[in-house]
Amino acid sequence: MESHIERVLWTQDEIAARVSDLASQISADLVTGSPPPVMVGVATGAFLFLADLVRQIKLPITVDFIRAESYGCGTESSGKPTISFDSKLDVAGKHVILVEDIVDTGSTLACLIAHMESKGASSVSVCTFLDKPARRKVHIHLLGQGKFYTGFQCPDYFVVGYGMDFAELYRNLPYVGVLKPELYK
Ligand code: 5GP
Ligand code: MG
Ligand code: MG
Repeated sequence: MESHIERVLWTQDEIAARVSDLASQISADLVTGSPPPVMVGVATGAFLFLADLVRQIKLPITVDFIRAESYGCGTESSGKPTISFDSKLDVAGKHVILVEDIVDTGSTLACLIAHMESKGASSVSVCTFLDKPARRKVHIHLLGQGKFYTGFQCPDYFVVGYGMDFAELYRNLPYVGVLKPELYK
């Protein structure tokens, strides 16, 4: 698996330090007194990030998953995401924090925000581990007082590890690396 990685972009230690910063920022922004916010991880890619993040938030929150599909097995999004597995928690009147692995064109996120709005969420924030702003095609409108948190800005490479896959492999790498292009081209 290691020999398939061209270079490491963020090590396990760098990731841990950044996740701690994000958890502090989110905690500082949480409004106490209102219903506990719902942190919704976008499966499968955000599973490690969500797990690391929520363990450092020392305030009441609830946790759930949602699944959106647009990719299949390739490296390019089809641009028409659909929700294939919905979160089960009631989000009506609550603050939702969508936890993503990476925002690329933005279409998955736009679909998820619209979905949370349709279910009555009072506000939607986004916490994405990586952001590739250079590839954005869809503008992201947050709902209400929602905020946008980013772990790292990602250069325009196809990356794997720390939850992110290629054809369902490499999710278990503890760091983020660039996959050798000959493996997917
Ligand atoms: P978008 O809808 O923003 O184009 O794509 C979002 C989804 O595509 C991400 O949540 C992620 O699952 C996948 N994706 C985008 N870029 C990459 C990448 O560089 N590596 C991996 N493994 N997945 C990516
Ligand atoms: Mg994702
Ligand atoms: Mg994927």
